[in-house]
Amino acid sequence: MQQSNQAIKGALTHDIVIVGGGLVGASLGCALAPLIERYGWRVAIIESAPIADQPQENVWQPSFDARASAIAEGSAQRFQQLGVWEAMRGEATPIKRIHISERGRLGATRLSANELGVAALGHVIPNAWMGRVLHQRLTQLPLEWHCPAKVERLTPVANGHDLQLSDGSQLTAGLTILADGGRSGLKEQLGIGSRHESYQQTALIAHVGVSQPHRGVAYERFTSQGPMALLPLPGQAMELIWTHPSGSETARMELPEREFLLQLQRAFGDRVGRFTRVGTRHAYPLSLVTAEEPVRPGLAVLGNAAHALHPVAGQGFNLALRGVMDLVEALEQGEQAKRPLGDMITLQSFEKQRSRDRANVIRFSDGLVRLFGLSFPLLPHARAAGLIGLNLVGPLRRGLARRAMGLER
Ligand SMILES: Cc1cc2nc3c(=O)[nH]c(=O)nc-3n(C[C@H](O)[C@H](O)[C@H](O)COP(=O)(O)OP(=O)(O)OC[C@H]3O[C@@H](n4cnc5c(N)ncnc54)[C@H](O)[C@@H]3O)c2cc1C
Repeated sequence: MQQSNQAIKGALTHDIVIVGGGLVGASLGCALAPLIERYGWRVAIIESAPIADQPQENVWQPSFDARASAIAEGSAQRFQQLGVWEAMRGEATPIKRIHISERGRLGATRLSANELGVAALGHVIPNAWMGRVLHQRLTQLPLEWHCPAKVERLTPVANGHDLQLSDGSQLTAGLTILADGGRSGLKEQLGIGSRHESYQQTALIAHVGVSQPHRGVAYERFTSQGPMALLPLPGQAMELIWTHPSGSETARMELPEREFLLQLQRAFGDRVGRFTRVGTRHAYPLSLVTAEEPVRPGLAVLGNAAHALHPVAGQGFNLALRGVMDLVEALEQGEQAKRPLGDMITLQSFEKQRSRDRANVIRFSDGLVRLFGLSFPLLPHARAAGLIGLNLVGPLRRGLARRAMGLER
């Protein structure tokens, strides 16, 4: 990876420029490696936030922040293809079982790796660690890396797009990949609309200590206030994702530790014993956002910029990584057919592949939030029966598990 901060206006041209070196942009950089080698493509990644090279460096990076993510087994296999899984697994905690329940109701569904004949249903990996591993891999590849540099302007031109960077560089790319997380205003600048539906919920995230060993169990619990999840971390620690009606999280963010732990215990119950401590708390407002035009000539929108989901089912990045792999495959086919990189036949075939997977995942995670958010008189009983029933019906539960593991689209 070459450090390139030159400001040679108008002189730089690239086959592909990736806007955003977060989880998705960095994964795409790694996934492009064999094609860069095979076809000699000139590829650049532009990332606006500085990246910490050392664990002790206290640098805020929006993608590689304090969260830990549930990485499905299918994504682990994809990381293996990218050559980063061996390093990733160094900080990964395997999910051996998933326990889904509704507060105050009897029903519960249990999914287990043993029953499905796999070593793990998924893995919990700190985002900061994923960031470090992906960036280390990028340093071994012949990619240009502009960081910190922000893409300030994106202008369509005859064969692609001009990109104006905050470091003064101007690039011209045949194919631009927008992996900026969707909050930088570039989509709007290009006139790409988004469907935006706020869940009116905010996720409070924190590491918590637990008094009993979690034994690799991930918990998903639906409460009247919204879903909460606990994901296993090394030792007797878990990652808490606690959804609140927006606004009501503020008081809880500031509660003294003892009071916070008492309230958490009341909301979650004692399946993991006592909550013993809580780390720094972070808040994430939750919306369902989908880009209305994920591809256009010379441009593809990926990751959160294309689809931001509720984290209830831990599917956002897993879905995005499948998008990364599908894009690389479509680009290779386009190259073999001697089409220009940003050609619409290539991009439309990619989008056709993506749309069904994306719609299924959105239906699945959005449906879960809405189903458990509704309060018709008999619905709680039906949900409880559903959870119990699901536990009894092997094939259905296995289908659910395969989807959660990212092995099925
Ligand atoms: C609370 C929470 C929990 C989650 N848990 C899970 C989970 O367990 N499993 C899962 O699969 N998914 C999970 N997700 C979803 C997952 O975090 C996202 O899918 C993922 O972060 C998307 O990555 P991204 O690279 O598309 O966007 P981002 O993470 O937003 O990264 C975008 C990058 O682009 C850079 N950037 C922005 N603008 C510019 C610009 N103009 N120029 C240059 N660079 C720019 C930013 O600095 C950033 O590095 C969760 C999400 C939330 C909110």
